[in-house]
Amino acid sequence: MTNETIEKSGPIVIVGAGQAGFSVCAKLRDLGHIGPITLVGNEPQPPYQRPPLSKGYLLGDITEERLFLRPPAFYDQRAIELRLGAQVEEIDRQRQSVLLSDGSVLPYSHLVLATGSRPRVLSRDQGGHLEGVYYVRSIADTKKMAREFKAGRQVLVVGGGYIGLEAAAVSSKLGLRVTLIESAPRILQRVASVQTASFFRQLHRNHGVEICEGVELAMLTGPGGRVTQAHMKDGRTFDVDFVVVGIGIHPNVELAQAAGLEIDNGIRVDVQCRTSDPTILAAGDCASFPWKGQRIRLESVGNAIDQGEAVAKTIMLASESYAAKPWFWSDQFDIKLQIVGLAVGHDSAVIRKLSENALSIWHYRGDELLAVDAINQPAVFMASKRLIEAGKSPAAEVVTDLDVDLKSLLHS
Ligand SMILES: Cc1cc2nc3c(=O)[nH]c(=O)nc-3n(C[C@H](O)[C@H](O)[C@H](O)COP(=O)(O)OP(=O)(O)OC[C@H]3O[C@@H](n4cnc5c(N)ncnc54)[C@H](O)[C@@H]3O)c2cc1C
Repeated sequence: MTNETIEKSGPIVIVGAGQAGFSVCAKLRDLGHIGPITLVGNEPQPPYQRPPLSKGYLLGDITEERLFLRPPAFYDQRAIELRLGAQVEEIDRQRQSVLLSDGSVLPYSHLVLATGSRPRVLSRDQGGHLEGVYYVRSIADTKKMAREFKAGRQVLVVGGGYIGLEAAAVSSKLGLRVTLIESAPRILQRVASVQTASFFRQLHRNHGVEICEGVELAMLTGPGGRVTQAHMKDGRTFDVDFVVVGIGIHPNVELAQAAGLEIDNGIRVDVQCRTSDPTILAAGDCASFPWKGQRIRLESVGNAIDQGEAVAKTIMLASESYAAKPWFWSDQFDIKLQIVGLAVGHDSAVIRKLSENALSIWHYRGDELLAVDAINQPAVFMASKRLIEAGKSPAAEVVTDLDVDLKSLLHS
């Protein structure tokens, strides 16, 4: 068999039926792969979108079926075998096969790791085991937690990142009393600039959410095994009905690590998404990759889709290097935040302001435009995305001039 025959017809196994795993198998069929494709996922549902789990689905606005990326019939039509509720336990690199929790063995010509990530949890010493303490990663998590969201109850949100803030916004909309604590000096410390954080702090306070920054949880307690109080390291104690924890994630690297693949803040891949074993590739939250002279790992839908497609191209020998184009969004109250680029390392920021709730924040390092946070400004988001992807850096005084049509800057 030639290399090309293997690429077009060899069996492909994808571990993880999430956003990235779905993207790989859909793209493989689009590119003409005719061999067996098996998508193995340890959750019971077919691949689904996670963002609504802390937004519309938690609010009760969206049904479970609407979360599915495709209806179940899609997989039959495309001859993609879905093995749901199945865990891949082990990779045998010598034999090129994986072992599933039900004892079955699947051979592969290429293996794709799209194992995603899992929430960081509070330790037992911190009361993380108590009933009434929730994390948001899966449909099952949100279903379990949603029962607690009743008007008038007191929720403590631990963590002022996007997931914590979104859970706080939903809680407030549903009439709960909400306190959010963040151990860093400010909310969104790791993921957004001071200006964006200030906007969201004020937004939450306007809706009655109590935001406490620089406040660290000591422990949760509950005499009957269910959480009733939260104790802070500064000595304060809050009464709580339940707790939502959003303190970051861990990439799921253990399967790769046990197989001897290189790990570096995620499963280490090259620009073509290959791990240190060229027959094994990785994509999505679990993979770290080279980007502009550094190694990064992105936790976003856009990256999971694009990197999944890049994996399929590599397998089908249709490969270009994966050039990540980071973008992200968050919905809180009636605000849509859309971000393009990575603001990390910016040394200045300017604001293009249409009104109190419609503005964009442009982040620069020197003269280079790094990232734009667009708040209720979808057209600005689209224009700035095209500018950043084209490598254009319009001057700060130009982008803050509301008379300037941002689209025209693409051609200047
Ligand atoms: C509540 C929430 C809100 C979010 N909001 C946004 C947003 O607004 N915008 C945005 O861009 N991103 C958002 N994200 C992030 C985004 O959803 C993730 O970046 C994306 O889902 C990553 O896709 P993935 O396929 O890499 O991982 P996942 O979607 O996590 O899928 C990985 C799957 O693999 C399974 N798995 C792991 N190991 C095994 C194994 N050994 N065997 C079988 N199965 C296995 C996991 O259980 C999981 O089902 C949000 C995430 C969450 C949790």
